[in-house]
Amino acid sequence: MSIAKNLEIIKNEIPQHVKLVAVSKTHPIESIIQAYNLGHKIFGENKVQELVQKHESLPKDIEWHMIGHLQTNKIKFIAPFVSLIHSVDSLKLLKEINKEAIKNNRIINVLLEIFIAHEETKFGLNQDEASEILNSKEYSILKNIQVCGVMGMATYTENIKTIKTEFDNLKHIFTFLKAKYFSKNPDFKEISMGMSSDFKLAIESGSTIIRVGSMIFGERDYSK
Ligand SMILES: *Cc1c(COP(=O)(O)O)cnc(C)c1O
Repeated sequence: MSIAKNLEIIKNEIPQHVKLVAVSKTHPIESIIQAYNLGHKIFGENKVQELVQKHESLPKDIEWHMIGHLQTNKIKFIAPFVSLIHSVDSLKLLKEINKEAIKNNRIINVLLEIFIAHEETKFGLNQDEASEILNSKEYSILKNIQVCGVMGMATYTENIKTIKTEFDNLKHIFTFLKAKYFSKNPDFKEISMGMSSDFKLAIESGSTIIRVGSMIFGERDYSK
């Protein structure tokens, strides 16, 4: 099916308040332009180099989201333009993003990545680790970052109950952090969860941002 048809199907299935990040990793510029020409302006990538190259080649009103694991020494490349970094899992990373944000005279929006899956391969903080960061003096003096919410990835499984439990858990952690650290901050409002295979479940559990790749652009070819 075409990118246009896929986008239409997904947009018809998600409520107005849920933001769709079209995950374009591994897909060519031409595919992104197809979606862009249909009015879609929010794209996500998981590698810094690919994100930078695509940002350079494409219209500047695109909102770019970094959704992949991030190394501190690469933040400088995306700091001038990135709209939201979904994958922050340490104070060290927050401090570095703040530093690069200052250099670019901007405030960079981030999400705390929370570990909710039963898979060793996934990244993220648990509730206590997130609390520890938000409680710290070091965090409190970072003025050029805005923590806008949380992000998580469910276990890769067919078991719907497992996935639903993990999404509910992320919503629970969001609610806890919101009450404890952001009760007076309306900017802390996002729960980034749900991909091609599980975004409907994620929305049922309160997702506000879904990250959908293969269902829009087709299967990824990593051999190229
Ligand atoms: C690749 C990726 C997605 C999109 O996955 P699909 O299954 O293709 O929808 C979402 N989130 C993250 C963090 C990813 O790396």
